Amino acid sequence: MAAEISSIDTLVIGAGQAGVAISEHLSNLGVPHLVLERERIAERWRTGRWDSLVANGPAWHDRFPNMEFEGLDPDAFAAKDQVADYFEAYARRFNAPIRTGVEVTSVERQKGRAGFTIATSDGTIEASRVVVATGPFQRPVIPRIAPQDVELTQLHSADYRNPAQLPAGAVLVVGAGSSGVQIADELQRAGRTVYLSVGAHDRPPRAYRGRDFCWWLGVLGEWDKEIAVPGREHVTIAVSGAYGGQTIDFRRLAQRGMTLVGTTKSFTNGVATFEQDLAANLKRGDENLMSLLDAADDYIERNGVDLPEDPGARLIPPDPACVTHPLAELDLKKADVSTIIWATGYAVDFSWLHVNAFDDNGKPQHQRGVSKEPGVYFLGLPWLSRRASSFIWGVWHDAKHIADHIVTQRKYLAYRDASQRQQDMRATHGANPTDTACDESHAPKAKEVGVN
Ligand SMILES: Cc1cc2nc3c(=O)[nH]c(=O)nc-3n(C[C@H](O)[C@H](O)[C@H](O)COP(=O)(O)OP(=O)(O)OC[C@H]3O[C@@H](n4cnc5c(N)ncnc54)[C@H](O)[C@@H]3O)c2cc1C
Repeated sequence: MAAEISSIDTLVIGAGQAGVAISEHLSNLGVPHLVLERERIAERWRTGRWDSLVANGPAWHDRFPNMEFEGLDPDAFAAKDQVADYFEAYARRFNAPIRTGVEVTSVERQKGRAGFTIATSDGTIEASRVVVATGPFQRPVIPRIAPQDVELTQLHSADYRNPAQLPAGAVLVVGAGSSGVQIADELQRAGRTVYLSVGAHDRPPRAYRGRDFCWWLGVLGEWDKEIAVPGREHVTIAVSGAYGGQTIDFRRLAQRGMTLVGTTKSFTNGVATFEQDLAANLKRGDENLMSLLDAADDYIERNGVDLPEDPGARLIPPDPACVTHPLAELDLKKADVSTIIWATGYAVDFSWLHVNAFDDNGKPQHQRGVSKEPGVYFLGLPWLSRRASSFIWGVWHDAKHIADHIVTQRKYLAYRDASQRQQDMRATHGANPTDTACDESHAPKAKEVGVN
């Protein structure tokens, strides 16, 4: 990569899967661009997750359309490092213009002219357009109710790596989405006493009638849904590819000795209190599971698809004692709880992005990633255009839309009216020109420097 880039048509910030995807589309469309990544390609897959994490979707699904996982069974679940390797290899394939180890610290709109000034840890760059691909899950969120007890070890799921990292003792895991439930399961298998606080969740079957749930969401049009069910936008999904991929079943975890509790309410004097909503949360999770099974059965019947029956998928084990007689509170010391893991999600951080692309609450305002600030694009955010937007395969399609939008805008800016075209011809040939073609090469461009 050239070190001395001072201006570029399009600057992409972040080289996770989103940055790699848009770089591929921009490369294919001939748009000069540069990707800046503060760490390494796909760093969050490499070091931002726990050691044993595997992809939630099988390898045939959780990938970009143009490349398969090498040496991996398509039905297997790629380990997190295999996912990171995949994106590195993908970027190499088309010689993506990515500079790693460079952090963008601010983006400012130019005054009185189009474009942006971008401050980085390695100097300043000017760009006509900026694609913000800094991730859907940037800043770990720990709720305010977290106790101040210094004797407790408290960490966010983003900082959990493996059971050996935690001090001896029982663990309270707060949050039972994909991260919380997998971490709780791993800790219990490692011999820990585990309390799992289960809030509202969706719980798709890992597979049904011989097809993975990723396949079912695809054929049923669920990945393409453009709007979340009102009120369910932030409902977490409990799904896992761990141990070969199994449907998350909270009651079975309880049968193995895990204590399920309701939503965590507060901590006072070393005592945690819980909402009495556990049974209701499990019931809604079951309903979500059943609704997908019903939709799948309906699809099979309507389309005459030959897939085997799967009655076992509808079996719900009886409620364990921790559900029928849920804990209202837990004295952490008495229960020997040494650690709380907050699997409570993430927020975004755009404090460095000083452009008019946000609403009053600081939420990005955009249509399919095209922000209200001309020239600023968001990519990879949850529900950017559809349910799949923050996931591997979904981001690739959103990236295509944004790249196409950039090309269209470049075309508008390349337009020269008749007199301008004549001037251009005179400048080129020094005579009366008759050619009136619109030539993109005359587009007003920032000074562009090669990036490879
Ligand atoms: C635990 C977990 C498991 C997941 N499992 C799956 C799964 O199995 N399948 C699936 O499809 N999705 C999964 N996802 C969702 C999603 O695919 C990942 O979050 C993915 O990492 C998002 O990719 P991204 O490129 O949008 O963002 P990120 O991977 O977060 O990449 C953003 C990049 O931007 C860089 N960056 C940020 N700020 C700056 C800056 N100012 N300057 C320069 N660089 C910057 C970061 O270093 C980072 O490398 C999972 C998410 C989590 C949290």
